[in-house]
Amino acid sequence: MSPPLPHLSFGAERRIPVLLPFPFPGPFDYRVPPELDPRPGDVVLVPLNRREEVGVVWDSPPDDAVPPHKLKSVIGILDTPPMGESLRRFVDWIAAYTLSPPGDVLAMALRVVSGAIKPVVLYRRADPLPRVRLTPHRQRILDVLARREPCLAVDLLREAAVSSAILRGMTETGLVVAELAAANAPFQRPDPDHTGPALSAQQQDVAAALRKSVTERSFSVTLLDGVTGSGKTEVYLEAVAACLREGRQALVMLPEIALSSQWIERFQRRFGVAPAVWHSDLPSRVRKITWQAVAEGSAPVVVGARSALFLPFPDPGLVVVDEEHESAFKQQDGVVYNARDMAVVRARLSGCPAILVSATPSLETVANVDAGRYLHQRLLSRHGGASMPRIDLVDLRETPPERGRFLAPPLIAAVRETLERGEQAMLFLNRRGYAPLTLCRHCGHRMQCPNCTAWLVEHRTRAQLLCHHCGHTVPIPPECPVCSAKDSLTPVGPGIERITEEAALVFPEARRLIMASDTISGPHAAAAAAHAIEAREVDLIVGTQLVAKGWHFPHLTFVGVVDADLGLAGGELRASERTVQLLHQVSGRAGRAEAPGRVMLQTFIPDHPVMLALLQGDLDAFMASEAESRRDGEWPPYGRLAALIVSADSAIVADTVARDLGWAAPRGEGIVVLGPAPAPMALLRGRHRRRLLLKVRRDVSIQPILRSWLASVKVPRGGRVDVDVDPISFL
Ligand code: ADP
Ligand code: ZN
Repeated sequence: MSPPLPHLSFGAERRIPVLLPFPFPGPFDYRVPPELDPRPGDVVLVPLNRREEVGVVWDSPPDDAVPPHKLKSVIGILDTPPMGESLRRFVDWIAAYTLSPPGDVLAMALRVVSGAIKPVVLYRRADPLPRVRLTPHRQRILDVLARREPCLAVDLLREAAVSSAILRGMTETGLVVAELAAANAPFQRPDPDHTGPALSAQQQDVAAALRKSVTERSFSVTLLDGVTGSGKTEVYLEAVAACLREGRQALVMLPEIALSSQWIERFQRRFGVAPAVWHSDLPSRVRKITWQAVAEGSAPVVVGARSALFLPFPDPGLVVVDEEHESAFKQQDGVVYNARDMAVVRARLSGCPAILVSATPSLETVANVDAGRYLHQRLLSRHGGASMPRIDLVDLRETPPERGRFLAPPLIAAVRETLERGEQAMLFLNRRGYAPLTLCRHCGHRMQCPNCTAWLVEHRTRAQLLCHHCGHTVPIPPECPVCSAKDSLTPVGPGIERITEEAALVFPEARRLIMASDTISGPHAAAAAAHAIEAREVDLIVGTQLVAKGWHFPHLTFVGVVDADLGLAGGELRASERTVQLLHQVSGRAGRAEAPGRVMLQTFIPDHPVMLALLQGDLDAFMASEAESRRDGEWPPYGRLAALIVSADSAIVADTVARDLGWAAPRGEGIVVLGPAPAPMALLRGRHRRRLLLKVRRDVSIQPILRSWLASVKVPRGGRVDVDVDPISFL
């Protein structure tokens, strides 16, 4: 045996796994140069395909499959807060649960960092200058700094025409001083003892229970449910206050953060300062500042959308999910996950409590309460003696609107009375645009999207027909594209623009405001609309689901639902549950202050269980019967569900992959596969789609089954299979 070669005798070279924000199956190994000492969680720069990429040192044992001489070296460790252990476990957890490549999940946590890798470092001359030798290069740097300091490294090196090594040497010898740019506007500390409202006895009890879950500093989940206007928000803000007193950070998730101006104003009243806000439309500079502040623990409370889950909280003490039943918490693109569920996971991995809040909790959450997994706190009455609104159904078969109109006489009368009393009224229709369908009166042709299985929706204000799925638009044609009949295209059915037009005819005096995503496009528009309503500059609000969420308008006393049946068509698993939730939330906007509220639901199916539940205000009973019907078929939450969505640029490929998946379908006790079948949206954005559903018993783990199923089928070019674990939409 020959003695070991000298250059190998220093022990094995150190290698570390680095997870990169790309859809690879796992981390890659890199060699660690002797001068570096990266730890798990460190954000590092590494070479990848001749580029430099940012990744995170991961924990999995290095995989020795790659021989040492093939390894590339870590380039450097970035001066950015390392990713904590619980956030790393969270990334792994979501990846495993949703069957996503871990790098895709990591990308959501790194999106900000990658934009702002290097914190802004500025250079100055040292004062006094140490007595060291000045080479011409060094002198040039000092000359530049004499003209302009502080100075960014890029500018400095360019103007002095020297290499970065020179600058580094000068920093080491103390000739120049590097400093981080002033920590930009860090967030002020919310004051937990700022004046809050005096809570009622019931509110106090609930607040005490929530505070206790915070001070226990361990994982728990509490459902906070209570009728609209009962003070749930005020009460969970007490839990936030408790978290602040503990010196820990709190995260509050809202479904539509960009439209939550009222919530933020409310927070400000309670705590004296605004919270840090997080959503994907923030200017990148603000994102960077916020991200940094969260990582350093100097953003005590963050209110945010789904993506706030991936912020680097070093010490989270509370996660609140408001309007937990909202489908907006489900991310449908890329990594498909439900932020409500993942918030609970994040809380568990961080050892802190979670509070799920809703007036209409999801069946999932209710089932978790029933099974004893979640705690339950309830607020049973509206605050300050306000009563729940009175609800009436308008049977459209008995009292139909005038021909070509959509508001029935009883609804019109009720709006009129409301306006005459000087109160505000709202008309609700969950459909944007003027009309959902445009038809040729002459030949019957229907205007359809060329890329999707969908009708084009007329948007009259824009003089366009628009596909709500792919965004395809065409100008409204002057004649039928098929039979060329002139002026024969007719709008069928109402959208919100059409209702506004009708309202203008019927209530010409009323000052009207449309609230839909086309007219309320961001936080400022939403805040302006809310203020106009609060200041009673508006009499009649016409809105889509955008008005259903969370708003508190004290002078609004009447809500008219133009088409209560809308969400029930299509036969989705959760159609009834969601319709009840949405209509109950909308109804909850009425009569939140002294004056009593009234709600009218226009429907063709007044005997439907959904309508009866709303009429009787008995959501518990409705949810119980809904639970019963799902339990029988082992549908969620009493079974587990995953959807496979096959899509391809050709129908043949889509059919082939779907058929192969059908052949390879898993079999066994408690396993059911439904499909393949054409998706309801058989064509979407030009891609052909087929669906399969995997349903398993609750005690069966669905991910391993999915993994081996997917591995058994080869997907040809142009085709793909997307997995949606716990699907909530079946399009
Ligand atoms: P929810 O979140 O249950 O819909 P909110 O927390 O929005 O209810 O409360 C409804 C309204 O009543 C808000 O304007 C809120 O500020 C007010 N409110 C609730 N509780 C109190 C209280 N104890 N004292 C004063 N105002 C309260
Ligand atoms: Zn389309």
